[in-house]
Amino acid sequence: MKILITGGAGFIGSNFVIYMVKQYPNYEFINLDALTYAGNLENLKSVHSLPNYRFIKGDITDRGLVESIVSDGVEAIINFAAESHVDRSITEPDIFVKTNVLGTQVLLDAAKKYNINKFLQVSTDEVYGTLGETGLFTETTPLTPNSPYSSSKAGADLLVRAYHETFGLPVNITRCSNNYGPFQFPEKLIPLMIINALNNKSLPVYGDGLNVRDWLHVEDHCRAIDLVLHRGVNGEVYNVGGNNERTNIQIVKRILSELGKSDDLIQYVKDRPGHDRRYAIDSTKITTDLGWAPKYNFETGIKETIQWYLQNQGWWESIINGEYQQYYEKQYSKR
Ligand code: NAD
Repeated sequence: MKILITGGAGFIGSNFVIYMVKQYPNYEFINLDALTYAGNLENLKSVHSLPNYRFIKGDITDRGLVESIVSDGVEAIINFAAESHVDRSITEPDIFVKTNVLGTQVLLDAAKKYNINKFLQVSTDEVYGTLGETGLFTETTPLTPNSPYSSSKAGADLLVRAYHETFGLPVNITRCSNNYGPFQFPEKLIPLMIINALNNKSLPVYGDGLNVRDWLHVEDHCRAIDLVLHRGVNGEVYNVGGNNERTNIQIVKRILSELGKSDDLIQYVKDRPGHDRRYAIDSTKITTDLGWAPKYNFETGIKETIQWYLQNQGWWESIINGEYQQYYEKQYSKR
């Protein structure tokens, strides 16, 4: 099988490329990534020279480029490429609509034109909006996104659905909860807090710190996508969750205690506008229909992840010294 993976130089995409290239030595993988601030080829060093892997630098909104790749025998497209950070979507929504909505449409058009066998859209539980104290998102929960990021992802999901209903395109959508693990860009909660704690910098926590997220190890997510790619029923949506609900402040305190640092580093900052209170996923469908279950226990996963950031200091130091540092100052200096 020849598979086009988009956004494969980002956090989840690079973990997925590494997993798949090793899991399926007889498949051919093309990784199309624009290498935005979030894309990093360093993540892919271990697979770069393998014969079944090829990297192409380019934008998913570039119709000519996408068509030239897909027309050359691509059988499946897995779309990870996106602008993915909610805070950035509040200050610069345009690029979220361009990449997440228009980019997905360009990929869908190419998939339709060249009759590919599967289009898999990697989406998020954030499209469902927010939950109160109880309840879980299922695949039939209405889409009520609250941020420019989640609304752009919801827009893409609706286009994917429409290309199935209107044109019979063989599609699946996966909607997963917050991922954690190696190679996550240090603007996201877990790496940000680990790195700040290591540098004895304050740990900025939004609002009262009681927003709840369900944490999923990136490797468990990769196995779920692999299953949906091979066994997902066309047109179906699959939720993927880790069953690990934690408040943000619990995560931050867990990291501090693991690193032997004081809670005094915690600094509560003004809440993010439109901040969703709670996300929690019901993964019954993918478990029952496809036999998926997360392997990672959160306590082991978070310990290993913290160790990974300790052992890969060079990886994140080179990132935070660059463009990200300017963004960080702008984001948190006015609090
Ligand atoms: P990321 O920001 O780490 O990586 C995104 C990648 O897409 C980068 O390599 C970037 O260079 C690339 N990219 C951006 N715009 C592009 C464009 N126009 N053309 C080609 N490439 C482009 O994101 P991530 O955390 O790895 O998330 C991957 C996918 O999973 C996204 O679609 C995201 O919405 C979804 N998702 C992420 C999480 C999470 O917890 N990280 C949870 C649910 C869903």
